[in-house]
Amino acid sequence: MPEEVKIKMRDILKEQGFHYKKKWGQNFIFDNNLLKRIVEAAGVVSGDRVVEIGPGAGTLTNELIKKSAQILVVEIDPTLIPILEDVLQDDNVVIVQGDALKINMDELTKANGFQWPYKVVANLPYYITTPLIMGLLESKYQIEDIVVMVQKEVADRLTASPDTKEYGAVTIAVRYYSQPEVLFNIPRQVFRPIPEVDSALIRLKPRKIPPVQVQDEKLMFRIIKGAFGQRRKTLLNSLLSVKPEMKKEDIKKILEKAGINSNTRGEALSLEQFAEIANLWSNV
Ligand code: SAM
Repeated sequence: MPEEVKIKMRDILKEQGFHYKKKWGQNFIFDNNLLKRIVEAAGVVSGDRVVEIGPGAGTLTNELIKKSAQILVVEIDPTLIPILEDVLQDDNVVIVQGDALKINMDELTKANGFQWPYKVVANLPYYITTPLIMGLLESKYQIEDIVVMVQKEVADRLTASPDTKEYGAVTIAVRYYSQPEVLFNIPRQVFRPIPEVDSALIRLKPRKIPPVQVQDEKLMFRIIKGAFGQRRKTLLNSLLSVKPEMKKEDIKKILEKAGINSNTRGEALSLEQFAEIANLWSNV
């Protein structure tokens, strides 16, 4: 983005009497070089279809436009819509006002003539990062790549290894649906207003085939949730909450068959081990 556009963006925000709203996680980026680096890292090329969640003042969108991508932005704040319409005057951009958490992305892209698959690129509002990411992955949309900026701590959680304090049910779920990767860290100082946390750009490459075969996906996630629900309990005791009518002895047998010590804790188990427990559990 040329310097004059950068200045224009801020001027327009000011002229329109725009106020940053904390409740919608509004921390914008105006740093030209960083925006370029994000779009490069996302690997957006001419002809790509890109959904951007939360365009804010459209600074990232502008960089996407330069790649001749077909872009659809979803912004919740109605006061930003006229601003976006003003600064993003490009035939390749569709602006939608709405809550990304409530939108079916496949339906929206289809309704706007997007060819599938499409990419998601965004500087996500932090207050809804996890539900947004999980919603995109669990819905099994026609998304080929997700490159998003998230709070550094969330990036650490999504890419954590077993037996670390960052490792949790969400780490496993994200690994089941995608290949997560941290691309680079972003200091808080580049945002306006400056938030209280640092960020990281991550890539989640949705998998076409899950890394483990499970007979009952829902059951596996109930088991994972149960195992992490009560972190101080042993695995055996926390799994009792998954199905109260199941006898402790039966769960013990399942764990024995899977070669897992009943006294271990959920956070020590890998996705593969949870899948094995779920498959043995399905056959009880
Ligand atoms: N992309 C811009 C940038 O990098 O400067 C703005 C990023 S800001 C962190 C997040 C944006 O998401 C804000 O514009 C905010 O209004 C918008 N937003 C917040 N919640 C949203 C939701 N549920 N659906 C769509 N947009 C949302």
